[in-house]
Amino acid sequence: MQVLALGKAMNKTVRDFGLGATTAAGLWGATTLSTLDRVPHEVRSPSWPRIRNNYLRSHPVCEACGQKDNLNVHHIIPFRIDPSKELDESNLITLCTDGPGHMNCHLVLGHAGNYKGHNERVREDAERIQAMLKSIKFK
Ligand SMILES: [Zn+2]
Repeated sequence: MQVLALGKAMNKTVRDFGLGATTAAGLWGATTLSTLDRVPHEVRSPSWPRIRNNYLRSHPVCEACGQKDNLNVHHIIPFRIDPSKELDESNLITLCTDGPGHMNCHLVLGHAGNYKGHNERVREDAERIQAMLKSIKFK
């Protein structure tokens, strides 16, 4: 029941917190769709696993919904767009890939529903989801 309520609450958030507007005009609009292919794994910094693990230790839950499992350390500006930000902690945010009610904050908030896109305002949108989740009353 809580899962269903959460799904309904997500729809409520779209209406009440202006996420719809953000999604329509901002999240989607601000999203840069790229046709660039993924960067081959071998060109990634050898320091990335350490940086990722350190970030995950200091940010151990999805920064949108609070989920503790199925986490991804997401690059706000993708590595393929700006490799210089690969290890920059200010460019990272922890997002889940399979949260409550099958939310996928990584796909929806980080990539606006398409892994070829990215949402430069993902932190703002994650804060809105947090605020929405705190305001929900489950029966
Ligand atoms: Zn999440």
